[in-house]
Amino acid sequence: MAFELPQLPYAYDALEPHIDARTMEIHHTKHHNGYTTKLNDAIQGTDLEGKSIEDILANLDMSNGGVRNNGGGFYNHSLFWSIMSPNGGGNPSGELAEAINSVFGSFEEFKNKFSSAAGTRFGSGWAWLCVHKGGAVEICSTPNQDNSLMPNTGCGGHPILGLDVWEHAYYLNYQNRRPDYINAFFNVINWGKVAELYAANK
Ligand code: MN
Repeated sequence: MAFELPQLPYAYDALEPHIDARTMEIHHTKHHNGYTTKLNDAIQGTDLEGKSIEDILANLDMSNGGVRNNGGGFYNHSLFWSIMSPNGGGNPSGELAEAINSVFGSFEEFKNKFSSAAGTRFGSGWAWLCVHKGGAVEICSTPNQDNSLMPNTGCGGHPILGLDVWEHAYYLNYQNRRPDYINAFFNVINWGKVAELYAANK
């Protein structure tokens, strides 16, 4: 079974004005679609064919650039669409809020640290909130399409919130103003979905 580009759970213009429709459409139909196609090409005829994406990334040979870049790109964008919503924003609640408060002290401090991880990632990459077994959360960032499921990225645990800071994610609307894009992202975070991922992977 080849990997398939997932449909967005909302329309391309649903996240406006925070993320514009044209950016969403290109990001999904060109970038994410490209990673998906190239991932399938990279694993075709190898022993990775038929494995889950989580399994492929967790056991990745990091020198395999085709699978690393396109497998990461396939996984990261699938997560990214799912943790945004036109009804997003606000604050987390329940055990996720408790985990965030216990590590960072407050939601505001979490937001500052996550925004800083996203803002200081040089070049292309992602900022992450990850959960470790036991329930502790961690903020980290990775270059390119790496993520915490891969070996030795400096990021541990399972990703539950990710922000794409590649220029293709924001340049049409925000040009070089990455901090404005990061700030806008907080208006569309689907905390219910993040809490679901937290509960499933803690
Ligand atoms: Mn992207």
